[in-house]
Amino acid sequence: AVGVLAVVGRPNVGKSTLVNRILGRRAAVVEDTPGVTRDRVSYDAEWAGTDFKLVDTGGWEADVEGIESAIASQAQVAVSLADAVILVVDGQVGLTASDERIVSMLRASGKPVTVAVNKADDHASEYLSAEFWKLGLGEPHGVSAMHGRGVGDLLDVAMESL
Ligand code: GDP
Ligand code: MG
Repeated sequence: AVGVLAVVGRPNVGKSTLVNRILGRRAAVVEDTPGVTRDRVSYDAEWAGTDFKLVDTGGWEADVEGIESAIASQAQVAVSLADAVILVVDGQVGLTASDERIVSMLRASGKPVTVAVNKADDHASEYLSAEFWKLGLGEPHGVSAMHGRGVGDLLDVAMESL
């Protein structure tokens, strides 16, 4: 069986954009605003000769009424089915309470986590990653899902856990 890599994180951080970047096509739907109901979607992916399942957790945007609880329960399902996780955070916004909630759940799962600090669109944005060291999940990887910057290095690290 192929490994399953889940992309998790709070709404609007760029999870679907990252999934599309990894797939090399527009499969996952990118939204400018959070709050759109969608199920978890699994895609067949390949990186450096290894086949794997890539799961976009778009459904986390499902419940704008109780977004914190929706994030927690949907995240738990996605993570429980995954072999490894990419946690996406927004480097332009910085660390939020929602990020920390998700991290608590991830830590409890025991699954290997690689942190992607998205929206680090150019070299000058690299400093944005530094504050995410305090999540305690190892090196935060600055990436730009939109432009592709850093995504190869991120996948190299994440795939080591698959
Ligand atoms: P999701 O809700 O986490 O799946 O986030 P989306 O992939 O739908 O993206 C949310 C918004 O962030 C969209 O407006 C994207 O165009 C934007 N976005 C995603 N990745 C990047 C990035 O690397 N840089 C910048 N500047 N914007 C991004
Ligand atoms: Mg999405």
